[in-house]
Amino acid sequence: MSDATSESTSIKSTPKTIWSNWAGNVECSVTGIFYPKTEAEVQAVIQQAKTEKKKIRVVGSGHSFSPVIATNDYILSLVELKGIINIDKQKKQATIWAGTSIKEANEQLFEAGLALINLGDIDVQSVGGATATGTHGTGITFGNVSTEIVDFTLLTASGELLQCDANTNPTIFAAGRVSLGVLGIVTKITLRLDEAYKLEYTCKAGNFEETLENLEAYNNSNRNFEYYYFPYSETLQLKLSNKSEKTVKHNKFLAHINDVFLENTALEAACRFGVTFPKMYQRISRAMSKSFPKGTKVNYSHQIYATVRNVRFKEMEYNIPMEHFKEVMTKMKAIIEEKQYQIFFPAECRFVKGDDIWLSPAYGRDSAYIAVHVYHQQEHNPYFSDLEELFTQYGGRPHWGKMHTRTAEYLSRNYDKFQDFQLLRQQLDPDNMFLNEHLAGIFGVAI
Ligand SMILES: Cc1cc2nc3c(=O)[nH]c(=O)nc-3n(C[C@H](O)[C@H](O)[C@H](O)COP(=O)(O)OP(=O)(O)OC[C@H]3O[C@@H](n4cnc5c(N)ncnc54)[C@H](O)[C@@H]3O)c2cc1C
Repeated sequence: MSDATSESTSIKSTPKTIWSNWAGNVECSVTGIFYPKTEAEVQAVIQQAKTEKKKIRVVGSGHSFSPVIATNDYILSLVELKGIINIDKQKKQATIWAGTSIKEANEQLFEAGLALINLGDIDVQSVGGATATGTHGTGITFGNVSTEIVDFTLLTASGELLQCDANTNPTIFAAGRVSLGVLGIVTKITLRLDEAYKLEYTCKAGNFEETLENLEAYNNSNRNFEYYYFPYSETLQLKLSNKSEKTVKHNKFLAHINDVFLENTALEAACRFGVTFPKMYQRISRAMSKSFPKGTKVNYSHQIYATVRNVRFKEMEYNIPMEHFKEVMTKMKAIIEEKQYQIFFPAECRFVKGDDIWLSPAYGRDSAYIAVHVYHQQEHNPYFSDLEELFTQYGGRPHWGKMHTRTAEYLSRNYDKFQDFQLLRQQLDPDNMFLNEHLAGIFGVAI
């Protein structure tokens, strides 16, 4: 891609090009990608799009699997609008440009003796992108990352800059913390933080039945509990983290063997083997359930949450009401064993506290998340479609950044505030500047 300067504005941009997401399952031919460095430049791109009657999709780091970014018009990237604007140590808060990656934020906050409260399993997403889709980690006493938003600034389709918090523009605040980029462009976000803390992380084997029977105990006695379920195996990979005052216990060589070799290089080799010899799927999955790295390490939180993900995959993830999780999990295992899908990638199960953000999948309910994956070269259906049918029988809500087929008809029945969000979106973006085909289906709008 060559850099050029847009003819109508002086903002750095790339002319007509192909854009694709991290997983490579979404690709689009765009008229231009803009890289504004200031809010004024973002406003100028909005003005140009309005004049030229173009749509804009704002991109973070392109780590969503769903086609939330896909457009033939403009992509606006915030990679140049990054960094920490202000840190308030007293209040334990920081205001961060939305294009900042979680990794960059983690490092700068750590230097100031602070840390993000809870995170997912990678740190390459942008702060704006992670919050826009309700990105979450695990831990039943923590909401998703968006629940830690204290305030944000929104640039709307009319070019207005709106400051939003619980008291100023409270309706936009209630809706805009998980907005999929359809209410406007979030330029900066203030997040609640914790003092820098260490986590003791343990990875060990568990049993399917025993873990489900004792799920409450696992969740209540660990700060962060999650597990991987390997199809065709009774063995689970349990991951438990708790705050710790112990000294950092981190062997770089062992970490490389575990995190890079076993979880990436060996996994890639297993996946390629599985694609070449698809009939070996059960053996591969069982072998994986026996060979994952086990042990304990202690490190600062941001070093524990973030993992390396070099193996490309496709993913669907659903939020399930906590009370239905065990039944759904049991049925999911039965369906997989009955249908014998040729899959060998584990499913990930995590637990999150309910919240009050209108389009957060955890709105109004403590939740479990079930994420299913296939290697990027594998067909994901009927595996994903059969499980989506199961999840939706229990009021499942899709992770907005993962693959799903839900549209307005289903979503309006499963989100109490869906109509309110639709009305607000129409008010803020009457010409549908921030929609693409996928989002038009989600919000039931013809574009
Ligand atoms: C390997 C991998 C691991 C992952 N792990 C997790 C995990 O542990 N937990 C989890 O919940 N999810 C996880 N995800 C999903 C990921 O966190 C989300 O899809 C997230 O939205 C990606 O962030 P991004 O910066 O790449 O956003 P993008 O994918 O670029 O954009 C996502 C959405 O945010 C909008 N957006 C971006 N920036 C702004 C802005 N400034 N203003 C308004 N809207 C904006 C976009 O328009 C789009 O709708 C993972 C994804 C991958 C590929």
